[in-house]
Amino acid sequence: MSVSMDIDKGGGGGTGVALEGLEGPIYKCKQCQAHLALSQHVVSKSFLCKEGKGYLFSKVINVSLGEKEERTLLTGVYTVADVSCISCGSIIGWKYEIVQEEKDKYKEGKFILERYKVLGPAENDSDDEAKDGLHSAALLSRIIDMFQKHAKEVQKTLDANKEWMEKLESKVSDLTSEVHQLRSELQECKSTQNAVAPGHV
Ligand SMILES: [Zn+2]
Repeated sequence: MSVSMDIDKGGGGGTGVALEGLEGPIYKCKQCQAHLALSQHVVSKSFLCKEGKGYLFSKVINVSLGEKEERTLLTGVYTVADVSCISCGSIIGWKYEIVQEEKDKYKEGKFILERYKVLGPAENDSDDEAKDGLHSAALLSRIIDMFQKHAKEVQKTLDANKEWMEKLESKVSDLTSEVHQLRSELQECKSTQNAVAPGHV
């Protein structure tokens, strides 16, 4: 009797289960908000589970392990144990107990928490995404500005070239008419010579 009283006093909250608390960006049980892991213990976010994404953690707390069993996962056969939240009992992922493949050895002793079973440091995630979005938008508008400026310069050059071409054309036509003039004068000279010459000979 006195023993169970002691345990109740030591336990956290109404669940009667003593939960550890974490400081910093944390992952919590979606069901009951129990602290499960720190984001600094995320090894990889690129795992695929049956129900979607899973994160690989090097360390988790407030969990209990189920029985070890062989399971065929996407990348091979592993000995795994289900991982449950000790506060609410929901299965939130699994632990890689034994890994056969040499290339996957790094997973051994680590935990997968399924993304849809946990609450991440969501504020930070969405902040990052928003920042990324703003960054891309700013970059895009800078590129557009640059293109517009460049297009204006190209247009200016084209306009200048056009003006120059027009001047050149009018000069050519001036010269052409001058040549015509000279040619007809020459013709006149010749015919005058021809007309005069026989008389002198
Ligand atoms: Zn829970």
